[in-house]
Amino acid sequence: MIPPGETIGIIGGGQLGRMIAMAAAQLGYRCHIFAPEADSVAAEVSARFTCAEWTDAEAMAAFASDCAVITYEFENVPVGPVSALAPRPVLPHPRALKTAQDRLVEKLFVSELGGAPAPFAQVDSDADLKAAISRIGSPGILKTRGDGYDGKGQWRIASLDDAEGLDLPCAPLIYEGFVTFSAEFSVILSRGQDGDIRYWDSAENVHEGGILSRSTIPASPAVQAQVADARVLAARVAEALGYIGVLTLEFFATTQGPVFNEMAPRVHNSGHWTIEGALTSQFENHVRAICGLPLGDTALAAKGAVMSNLIGDEAHDWASILADPANHLHLYGKALARPGRKMGHVTRLVL
Ligand code: AMP
Repeated sequence: MIPPGETIGIIGGGQLGRMIAMAAAQLGYRCHIFAPEADSVAAEVSARFTCAEWTDAEAMAAFASDCAVITYEFENVPVGPVSALAPRPVLPHPRALKTAQDRLVEKLFVSELGGAPAPFAQVDSDADLKAAISRIGSPGILKTRGDGYDGKGQWRIASLDDAEGLDLPCAPLIYEGFVTFSAEFSVILSRGQDGDIRYWDSAENVHEGGILSRSTIPASPAVQAQVADARVLAARVAEALGYIGVLTLEFFATTQGPVFNEMAPRVHNSGHWTIEGALTSQFENHVRAICGLPLGDTALAAKGAVMSNLIGDEAHDWASILADPANHLHLYGKALARPGRKMGHVTRLVL
């Protein structure tokens, strides 16, 4: 067990790290952020900050020597330097990073555990893409296997003709059949060092332009009917990875049951509602899990909650958002409100 007062290392300097650091501070821990960008919103609320490249082995080693446990808030960090942090405990284990970083590896892994992703094919050439479209059909989505987030690195393919003129990016790709779904939802769980698993209620998620726009609790009955099966798969994933911390799996609700979309080995945007809407937030339980503390109760603290992301300029509306006393406003402290950038979120409880 890592007692309060110790230092938690967080790899990645964004809003997820910021909210983990705030939960850690509540429990009496200090955080040390490692990120390559100087303007880290996680570092702003943390005791220490190392600003260095992922490949800076000396900086990584000095960071590790300052931390009792290390976690990550960002899954596109190279696995090599993270694995090299041992013998410091890195939780969740970097094998979870390795699995989640590559859409192909992730889908094969989840399929072996009995999950049902959309039909998919590896694409490394024009010929592969044509073969994939012929086998799987269209419409579909061509995605980069790595480095994708918030809908980036994705191309919709309406037909075989679309593939003809496409200038394929120089990166490993995957083609997925387009899923007809009635809704999207996520399963977020925390797994402690004793194997104890706790789930939060599943939010129904609405994306706009590939970016999460809104998460609603409770989800519709159609989604709720699929949560039990989705949880079974999420628990299998957590157990197969020897996972410790918060894990997220995203699903499409379809007439054939839950179709697995992707996993994130970390706290998740669709769980931000848990800060006010659950007895223990995803951030607090992540800290509890990686420090070997007992997990907190994940039950609802209200009848429901709606979390809306503030993207780009929407964050400039903070004054009118605060004018409604029922709104819980979270701003991430980012200086530039670029279009498509997550600047904050607002949670409203259903009481
Ligand atoms: P992803 O980054 O893979 O989660 O994709 C972002 C969003 O694009 C998802 O949340 C869906 O709304 C949509 N999307 C991605 N893959 C598919 C698919 N195979 N079929 C239908 N919609 C998809």
